[in-house]
Amino acid sequence: MKKLLLIKYGELTTKKGNRKTFIKLLVNNINSILSGFKYTLKYDYVRMYIESDDIEIIIEKLKNVFGIHSIVECYEVNNNIDDISKSLVEFLKNIDFKTFKVETKRADKNFPIPSMECSRRLGGVVLRNFNCSVDVHNPNLIIKIEIRAEGAFIYLREFKGLGGYPVGIQGKGLLMLSGGIDSPVAGYLALKRGVDLECLYFESPPHTSLEAKNKVIKLASIINKYSGNLKVHVVPFTKLQEEIYKQVPDNYVITIMRRMMYRIASKLILKRHLKVIINGESIGQVASQTLTSMQVINSVTNLPVIRPVACMDKLEIIDVAKKIETYETSILPFEDCCTIFLPKHPVINPDESKCLEYESRFNYEKLVDECVNNIETITTLTEKQDELL
Ligand code: ATP
Ligand code: MG
Repeated sequence: MKKLLLIKYGELTTKKGNRKTFIKLLVNNINSILSGFKYTLKYDYVRMYIESDDIEIIIEKLKNVFGIHSIVECYEVNNNIDDISKSLVEFLKNIDFKTFKVETKRADKNFPIPSMECSRRLGGVVLRNFNCSVDVHNPNLIIKIEIRAEGAFIYLREFKGLGGYPVGIQGKGLLMLSGGIDSPVAGYLALKRGVDLECLYFESPPHTSLEAKNKVIKLASIINKYSGNLKVHVVPFTKLQEEIYKQVPDNYVITIMRRMMYRIASKLILKRHLKVIINGESIGQVASQTLTSMQVINSVTNLPVIRPVACMDKLEIIDVAKKIETYETSILPFEDCCTIFLPKHPVINPDESKCLEYESRFNYEKLVDECVNNIETITTLTEKQDELL
């Protein structure tokens, strides 16, 4: 008897031409997330099997891997009806269920019992041994039996995977990661589409605290369980930000500040060979996120800006934040550089020519370059890795 996990691929099976690349990357991602465990992994272009004695913990790990549609607990036994019956009774002892149905697929036509008859007989075995009943429409447990020449496979519990694409298949983007609720969710959603990330955080000490920075690193380490090697680039933003407050009228400071953030992000993207900016902007959430603001802020770069939460309501974003366990950290009350000295009436419909005029008042290019050149890069560990240190 062999205990296995069957891994069904996610959306990638629809991408015929790229299937090989997708699956190879998925295998790499799984190997890196399972490093330290004892297991063997076999795959073809339809499915993957993992054999291990640590099945339970491996299932938990695999639930964090994008590109997996589902994970099925599976046993390989001899393909004769007595062995299948005996093993089934054994495996079901550890599972809680009241209703069930059996589905048999006889891939090996040399097996003497037809599929329907096999399901009926095994159903009888289950009924005799457990306090349960058959429900063909909505059972607690579906027992799938697949009979092949090399053996019989019993599929029991099926766990939903995250779906999406294997992380990295799309290359890397730069996530503007603040300590708020939206940007970690934006990062998670980008990872789900196969975009690996590096993170960018603007800090303004002493106006922003070390706690605020640590909070961002903590958020990065939480979403790192979907990636594995997130870096956080910390930009010393104080000088540039103070200069903006000196030179620019109050109502335009946020617009100009965000234009500077985009300029710094764009330069770092070129330096690090990344592809796109990703951030947590959501249409209409604050003055700097009206469509006009987005247009005026976005115009400083010709790189694509992906805003995964742009069209989500705050409550929908919060739901995801809770699901991915960033919410509790995000709501810790530390000031971000965007919330210090917040003007009373930030402009809602900024005028680009005014931005250009205000920006011409000081040598911002030099300050932007200084920010980029003085970035401190921190390699994030997942919370688990952190605990092990
Ligand atoms: P969040 O949007 O993450 O909840 P927030 O609401 O405080 O945080 P906004 O003012 O809405 O942030 O900023 C919009 C987006 O700009 C953020 O989602 C984030 O992507 C980016 N951003 C804001 N502040 C910073 C910062 N200090 N460092 C990096 N990115 C930032
Ligand atoms: Mg926000």
